[in-house]
Amino acid sequence: MISSRMKNLHPYVPGEQPKDRTYIKLNANENPYAPSSKVQEALIDFINKNPMKLALYPDPDSLELHAAIADMLNRTGGVLCNAVTEGENVRPSEKDLIPFTVTPDMIYSGNGSDEVLSFVFYAFFDSGKRLVLPEFTYSFYPVYAGFYNIETDVVPMKKDWSLDTEELLSRAGKNGSGLIFANPNAPSGISLSREEVRAMLKKASPDQIFVVDEAYCDFGGESCIPLLAEFKNLLIVRTFSKSLCGAGMRLGYIVASPEIVNFITTVKNSLNHFPIDALAQVAGNTACRNPAYYCECARKVVEQRESFQSFLAEKGWEFVPSKTNFVLARHPSVSGEEVYRRIKHEGILVRHFSTKGIEDYVRITIGTKEQMDALKAAIEKICCSGEKVQPFSGTAQP
Ligand code: PMP
Repeated sequence: MISSRMKNLHPYVPGEQPKDRTYIKLNANENPYAPSSKVQEALIDFINKNPMKLALYPDPDSLELHAAIADMLNRTGGVLCNAVTEGENVRPSEKDLIPFTVTPDMIYSGNGSDEVLSFVFYAFFDSGKRLVLPEFTYSFYPVYAGFYNIETDVVPMKKDWSLDTEELLSRAGKNGSGLIFANPNAPSGISLSREEVRAMLKKASPDQIFVVDEAYCDFGGESCIPLLAEFKNLLIVRTFSKSLCGAGMRLGYIVASPEIVNFITTVKNSLNHFPIDALAQVAGNTACRNPAYYCECARKVVEQRESFQSFLAEKGWEFVPSKTNFVLARHPSVSGEEVYRRIKHEGILVRHFSTKGIEDYVRITIGTKEQMDALKAAIEKICCSGEKVQPFSGTAQP
């Protein structure tokens, strides 16, 4: 009954989303802060003043949203935690300056960056050519490869968890395929500098797409947006789900040349020609017009990440130094699965992957100070004191 294509499907398994909401949720790299109050007001206003707009199809070109995204990137340089804020005024830090103006025709938006990524795979990765992927990368890339019937060629990580850029390039060259990786990488949290990516782009074939997924860049990475002036094959994917406190809004976008944006639009219009819904457009537009709040949120996350990493070091845990809103860490003697289970018993969810090579680790999303204090207390209790684990009673804070 099912098509032969179905055999290649190995669906992505997201972090647990418990219905009871009684856990502290540090397992899906969401932002612990709500969107700006301006977003909340804009949504209520929109519904009250324009109920008919919900009965009509949304702007197919998301023009206002794309203008707002471009404006935010120009004002922040694409790294929120570094941007300089004075009240509501925001400007990029010196090191993040974009040497040109990002224009709305360089933006494509979709239903989360997952959807955007799927269109990128369709448009640029051929099923006849093996796609080179880092061994540990965003686990949706191999899922999409299966979906589009593309074989993969997996390059091991270096010992320090960084990407083996030479090997990635060399194999992409041999396979005649494009390249995709997350920067900072997930789930390691390590970031390549812009100069390192530039060096890769110089060696890569200008005829092959070069995709950099900057889902976590706002927490301390170096954005490759400035490189768009030099490299026409560069495509950058970003999301509202992490630094813009909007995972529930499902908004992701591409920054690339207008030509690349047109290719992706062609894919979209061949599948589901409607854009993201009207409410998400309003929410995204308002968020981008008010970046100062999100800069503060990103800085708070970075502060907690640094404090948590110091805590882990003190307690003798191993961790990969992160430039994101999560930390990949392992206890020296307790298995990753056991750490996950014990922390869950304390009412806190973190992410454990059973994939070989990473099974000893847990990936911990950075939350608010209160959430991280609770996590530190849980870690002290379960992994350092040797106290017996009690089953979780279900009364922890949300
Ligand atoms: N890229 C990376 C590297 C991610 O970790 C994620 C989130 N899990 C995504 C893309 C997808 O994010 P979203 O679809 O919520 O925009």
